[in-house]
Amino acid sequence: MIKIAHPLINGEEISAVTRVLRSGKLAQGHYVEKLERQFSELCDTSYGVATNNGTSALHSALYAVGIEPGDEVITTPFTFVATANAILMIGAIPIFVDIDKKTYTIDPFQIEKNITRKTKAIIAVNLYGQPANFAEINTIAKKYKLIVIEDAAQSIGATYKKKMSGNLADIGCFSFYATKNITCGEGGMIVTNNKDYCLRARSFRNHGQNEKKRFFYEDLGYNYRLTDFQAAMLLAQLKKLPSIIARRQKIAQTYTSAFEKTPGLITPFCVDDRTHAYHQYTFSIVSPFKMVRNKLQVYLARRGIESIVYYPKSLHHFKHFDSDQKNSLQSADKAAQTVLSIPVHPNLKKNDIAYIIKTIKNSNDT
Ligand SMILES: *Cc1c(COP(=O)(O)O)cnc(C)c1O
Repeated sequence: MIKIAHPLINGEEISAVTRVLRSGKLAQGHYVEKLERQFSELCDTSYGVATNNGTSALHSALYAVGIEPGDEVITTPFTFVATANAILMIGAIPIFVDIDKKTYTIDPFQIEKNITRKTKAIIAVNLYGQPANFAEINTIAKKYKLIVIEDAAQSIGATYKKKMSGNLADIGCFSFYATKNITCGEGGMIVTNNKDYCLRARSFRNHGQNEKKRFFYEDLGYNYRLTDFQAAMLLAQLKKLPSIIARRQKIAQTYTSAFEKTPGLITPFCVDDRTHAYHQYTFSIVSPFKMVRNKLQVYLARRGIESIVYYPKSLHHFKHFDSDQKNSLQSADKAAQTVLSIPVHPNLKKNDIAYIIKTIKNSNDT
């Protein structure tokens, strides 16, 4: 089976992790600090705060910017559930608005239509690795005095108008889950240029303790710390990031040239002012493509190619969000029925790529 994800791990990661294991100092320490410095340098931000996963990064970011119970946070329904769960975790109310049907990212026009007196923030998600429309999102936020959180879990290494992903809003959140573009199994990171947000996030991830005063608790906090051996692994991964992104972009380009003219197969739409990190290579399958999306997925699986639907159902349909959703979110619902992601990871061989292309093309000819 050609898998949808396969991390690029070799001797560098293994010796980095073993070095920390041998040192006996496993918990958050110098390696986490070094990772925070290097990661914020990569993003051109002033501060980095490492966490134990991307969900805790989002939860901490919502706390850091001052979101409180009862506040409304506008976000996209077409994302991994963690984005919206973090809003519930802080006690706020997710307000789902529709997406732009070409990029699958939140539609700024829909954001503005749904602002109320309770709205405090927006979480925009860089879905599949392409940044959302931050120029418009930030303009709206400024006009209504809202905070913008960038969910960059899928977009490490992407850019928007030459700025690095993570640095496109007030605060940015990353994930280092096993399938993400760089990984340490589970991990996360917050980046920001705001010192107050940074200090609040640091305190929140460590039981509300002021960094300089252990066992003095400023507020409720959690244990969201990353370990030093994971940070050591990420430092090794970080060195590979440019080549990982370049490889993903190259494979994506090969796919797009191959599929561009296939009727009913809609290749990823990349906006000129952005670069895409291709966490996923995701197309839409619509008429007149011969098979419907689900049939194509089964067809590929039978031929040894894993493909995944990110995501089969938009979040506003799930009952724990309990939303009396008044908006019809048609583009999100349509996307949930038509998108399919195929392997684009840097471990793919030339043969794999050619085989995937041939198999998809054949599915439409038979
Ligand atoms: C992966 C992901 C997260 C959550 O990250 P975890 O590390 O799995 O907690 C949040 N948002 C999006 C868009 C993601 O893809």
